[in-house]
Amino acid sequence: MCGPGGVGKGTVVARLVAEDPRLWLSRSWTTRTQRPGESDDAYTYVSRDEFEARVGADGFLEYAEFLGNLYGTPWPEAGDDRDVVLEIDVQGAAQVLERAPDALFILLEPPSAEVQAERLRGRGDPPEQAERRIAVAQGELAEGRRLGAICIINDDLDRTVIRCQELIIEARSAALG
Ligand code: 5GP
Repeated sequence: MCGPGGVGKGTVVARLVAEDPRLWLSRSWTTRTQRPGESDDAYTYVSRDEFEARVGADGFLEYAEFLGNLYGTPWPEAGDDRDVVLEIDVQGAAQVLERAPDALFILLEPPSAEVQAERLRGRGDPPEQAERRIAVAQGELAEGRRLGAICIINDDLDRTVIRCQELIIEARSAALG
């Protein structure tokens, strides 16, 4: 699941995982500091040294640098046959698609740049971080589309969740052949 900051990815993914016991949400590592109000388990928060040590040990399925911070997906260890959900940026999605071309790649788009800006400013990002995220959003959307993502405009949470659930059902039946 990809989409620019403030598009509501976290909310959509939390709903998908809560409503489908066959989904397993991967927890990323990041060198970013925790935002005010962000839950302790949103990420595994690490130093750049710790992150780089894990890169050196081939400990990530994918990783990328986004606005000066590193983010990475540890090799998934669901330990069962649940489907792994990644909430990552488009650079990470490109790496995952190389390894797993059949992965379901959803790109959430904001209904408008204004809505996105309002959400970003409201969630505790320092204003200059919020502005940088808005500035890179158009490029992220264009890159996601270029990589063949299925795009969903997140203008209604329930509708977005239902659309994602339909796509997951389709992807599972395609995987069964
Ligand atoms: P944020 O700082 O807003 O939590 O995340 C910034 C961006 O990094 C978002 O697009 C988010 O989806 C992405 N991100 C979070 N975890 C990972 C990860 O493990 N790998 C990659 N490539 N991007 C991630």
